[in-house]
Amino acid sequence: MSGLSLQRLAVCCRCSCQPPPHNPCGATVFRQSGCAPLRVSVFRNMEYFWRGRTQNNRELVESLKQNGSLRTKRVADVMEQVDRGLFVPPNELPYIDNPMPIGYNATISAPHMHAACLELLSGHLQPGMCALDVGAGTGYLTAAFGMMVGKEGRAVGIEHIPELTHQAIENVQRSRAGHLLASGSLSLHTGDGREGYPAGAPYDAIHVGAAASEVPQALVDQLKPGGRMVIPVGDIFQELTVIDKAPDGSLKQWGATSVRYVPLTSRQSQLGHN
Ligand code: SAH
Repeated sequence: MSGLSLQRLAVCCRCSCQPPPHNPCGATVFRQSGCAPLRVSVFRNMEYFWRGRTQNNRELVESLKQNGSLRTKRVADVMEQVDRGLFVPPNELPYIDNPMPIGYNATISAPHMHAACLELLSGHLQPGMCALDVGAGTGYLTAAFGMMVGKEGRAVGIEHIPELTHQAIENVQRSRAGHLLASGSLSLHTGDGREGYPAGAPYDAIHVGAAASEVPQALVDQLKPGGRMVIPVGDIFQELTVIDKAPDGSLKQWGATSVRYVPLTSRQSQLGHN
């Protein structure tokens, strides 16, 4: 259940979008690449009708504004420009506020978590700045970062499942951020995000889309003085942790909210090969 605020756990447990041992309710699970059992699809469709039909990206953004997830115009504008429907697999419902499976035991985070992370990082995603998105998944946040830092800035996504990286590149190409990919100010790479992406360092903003037991030192090292990292930390109980690096290099950290993300791990362990 990547990118899910715990306050909403009761809802998301029903769609059981995590494999064991990450599925807290132990309900029906996906075994492979986002193969949704029928029971899950039925629940998800019912939920779609119960929770109000946000049928397009504009309606989704409006509902996020109304429920307080989106607080600033700048972040609302970028979420309106980057159409979530281009990033969610075709058999899923893109415009409801839930994480959705994207295959390979991964999910696209729920829209309210995308909003929360963008709001937390917004000051460090000014035009011309550099951003790193670790565990880029669908590439949604990399695209949003790219739109915020603009063509004078740099947005880098790193994802360790090559098939997801390729899909993310296609997603971004179709989106309003496509021109940034073409010009090279946005790039997506396959690699172990626990090592960051040294070639593009240092970064004003680092986002980690998967939960780490401990904050990887390489990411701390690649954060610019004055920069901010947002990273879910913990195993079963996770905290969306904000780490600010002061100009003198000292670190301050605080917890923004309780969350439930897929683990930041090795490819083998994510795919269940060990
Ligand atoms: N922000 C993404 C979240 C995807 S889920 C989105 O909303 O689309 C978390 C992602 O982290 C998965 O795609 C998973 O494959 C990736 N991941 C997990 N461990 C990783 C690692 N060590 N290095 C790079 N990516 C990793």
